[in-house]
Amino acid sequence: MAVAVYPGSFDPATYGHLDVIARAGNLFDEVIVGVLNNSAKSPLFSVEERVNILNRLTLEIPNVKIKAFSGLAVDFARECGAQVIVRGLRAITDFEYELQMAQTNRVLAPDVDTMFLTTSLEYAYLSSTIVKEVNAFNGEISKFVPPIVAEALQEKYMSRKNNK
Ligand code: ADP
Repeated sequence: MAVAVYPGSFDPATYGHLDVIARAGNLFDEVIVGVLNNSAKSPLFSVEERVNILNRLTLEIPNVKIKAFSGLAVDFARECGAQVIVRGLRAITDFEYELQMAQTNRVLAPDVDTMFLTTSLEYAYLSSTIVKEVNAFNGEISKFVPPIVAEALQEKYMSRKNNK
């Protein structure tokens, strides 16, 4: 059985991530989306919130599972019995970092390979960081994220505004 993990922060998930998840789901028997629990990064959404959002967004894809993880992606892949780490590539700026990470992971775990899915053109510009920035100024985000994520972002915006 071909199993892949797709690790990332997903803070929050965008249409770009969902596109990669759906395409990986077509290529592998099972895809496990790994939501990184990294306290050093101080994410907008807690790991539980990010897992919950992704679970709701992938309900219709039976061979996709969502799990939180911390530590190395290669260790997470091994724990899941995955042979492949899937990552998305948008632009040259992604490439250098992703190549470096893939090569490091290959040294750490020669039994786990990295596969890149190039972004669909309509999502090439899209990142969680940009979506959060637009939302922080109450901008329109419905073209970037599904309604579930837009609502969750709106709630964060309101709670931050009320706490000021
Ligand atoms: P990380 O903090 O690990 O980069 P992200 O949640 O930002 O986590 O991204 C997870 C993965 O999804 C990365 O491989 C990233 O390149 C990819 N990705 C993010 N946005 C897009 C997009 N719009 N199209 C394709 N891949 C994307």
